[in-house]
Amino acid sequence: MIHFEFRNFEPNSVEAVRSAAAAAAKLIFADGIFPPTKSDPVYVDRVDEGSALLVANSANQIIQVRCSHHLTWEFIYQYSHELGHLATRADVRFFKAGSHPWIEEALCGACSVFVTEQIVKAPCFTDEEVAACTKFIQSNYSGSGVDASWLSQNVVALKRATEASPLTRRLGGWIADRFPAGEFLSDNRVLKDVPLIPDLEKYLNRWSVECAHPENVADALLGLVSNCLR
Ligand SMILES: [Zn+2]
Repeated sequence: MIHFEFRNFEPNSVEAVRSAAAAAAKLIFADGIFPPTKSDPVYVDRVDEGSALLVANSANQIIQVRCSHHLTWEFIYQYSHELGHLATRADVRFFKAGSHPWIEEALCGACSVFVTEQIVKAPCFTDEEVAACTKFIQSNYSGSGVDASWLSQNVVALKRATEASPLTRRLGGWIADRFPAGEFLSDNRVLKDVPLIPDLEKYLNRWSVECAHPENVADALLGLVSNCLR
């Protein structure tokens, strides 16, 4: 178990933020095992400018979020996406050739959907907040229409994505729909051990070997891409 330190939040809100963040981490790291991190604690820094990200080029392990000072569903949405990147240690491998960032972006989008939909049901969120969150997820993460022909039309644009985009969100929605109990989370976690392989089909096959269960995201994506690579 590692610790998280929350910086630049409203002091009276830190405990609520910490509690919701712990619930999010428990969903993604159900066994309590985190990847080796650059620091313990991991710092969660709230900022007013820029975007949510797992900070690279820092001596400490830092998750940056851009949200209100108090607990909001937007915090959970961003934090769970970045925990998905922390699971793979994206800060040390994400931009290297053969890491296929668009796949990880889709997986982290699925993390957001899976975690946020559960945590927003907690009593501390109002009906209005739940409705706004649900509307946002439904309009940004619709996996309907994602199939081999959709991927074939969008694979060039998808491959350019090095951060969340409308296309990676739709693919993330497809993953979340296909693995509704969060089975994709363990597939995301093993990505950090998958060698970097520029050839997409070889990469997916290698990733599939690391996945500990037969129905996994690597095989699901192989099913989609095999039709559009040839
Ligand atoms: Zn991301």
